[in-house]
Amino acid sequence: MAKINGVLGPLDTAELGFTLMHEHVLVANWAMRQAFADWVDREAHLAHATREARSAKERGIRTMVDLTPINLGRDIHVIREVAERAGMQVIAATGFYWTEEPWLQGWEVDRLAAYLVRDIEKGIQGTPARAGIIKCATDHLGVTELNRKLLQVSARAHRATGVPISTHTAVAQRTGLAQQDVFAEEGVDLSRVVIGHCGDSTDIDYLEAILKRGSFIGMDRFGIDIILPKPERVATIAELCRRGFARQMVLSHDACCHIDWFPKEMITHMAPRWNFRHIPDDVIPALKEAGVGEVQLREMTVDNPRRIFERQGAY
Ligand SMILES: [Zn+2]
Repeated sequence: MAKINGVLGPLDTAELGFTLMHEHVLVANWAMRQAFADWVDREAHLAHATREARSAKERGIRTMVDLTPINLGRDIHVIREVAERAGMQVIAATGFYWTEEPWLQGWEVDRLAAYLVRDIEKGIQGTPARAGIIKCATDHLGVTELNRKLLQVSARAHRATGVPISTHTAVAQRTGLAQQDVFAEEGVDLSRVVIGHCGDSTDIDYLEAILKRGSFIGMDRFGIDIILPKPERVATIAELCRRGFARQMVLSHDACCHIDWFPKEMITHMAPRWNFRHIPDDVIPALKEAGVGEVQLREMTVDNPRRIFERQGAY
């Protein structure tokens, strides 16, 4: 048992229960919101996101990790309000997306890391909500000079605070392995890292290479069938379970109650099952059918999230 940072106060890791490890309450560009008051209808969004979170709760999900990075518009006030209204335990992140922001160039690693440490130790945006996890990302460009810096920032904030790291990767470029290289150089215990979006891959060799270095992998985009359909996602998990890796996988959707990258109707058309209910409603029955046992399901949904968060202050 340990106390970790939830958005409404400390959470007991023994009480996390069924945990979705990579979701988003709101992804909306801060500059667009500031420039155009109607870019996000805050009240309508709050009502919708609350319904979405409640529907997950009704299906036995007790905790959601909101992995929205600062520069994709993390809004702690909205996250907290949804957590409160829905009665959902939510853990928020600090950290950055892979897009190479101008300010990454001129600032030293340790000075940027200090901002993340402040989010973790003092609270986010002037609230008492402390970040419980560090998000970082490497996309198709791979570990460029600036991306290396961004990963180093995350590694140092992790080593200063002990909160885990969870990443975004591009499986086609196998960027999970390159991220692990940088973390290892920075002295990070790789078992404190979730390499995300591994569920987009069916390349068992690639996934095993990550797993054998001790990290968790996120099978975390259920509902985005346009990238990889559910049957292939399920078959990959079942195969990795057969190979003994159930203790290193976590499940999620990477779903957003609202994301401003596309008009809403386009998302509904592209990914109709991309919501917090898909795993309990459709994925777990499919995993059972594929031969994944109850113990393995419990590991992926309850025990592994707990283990990821529990080992705080490991340095
Ligand atoms: Zn995400």
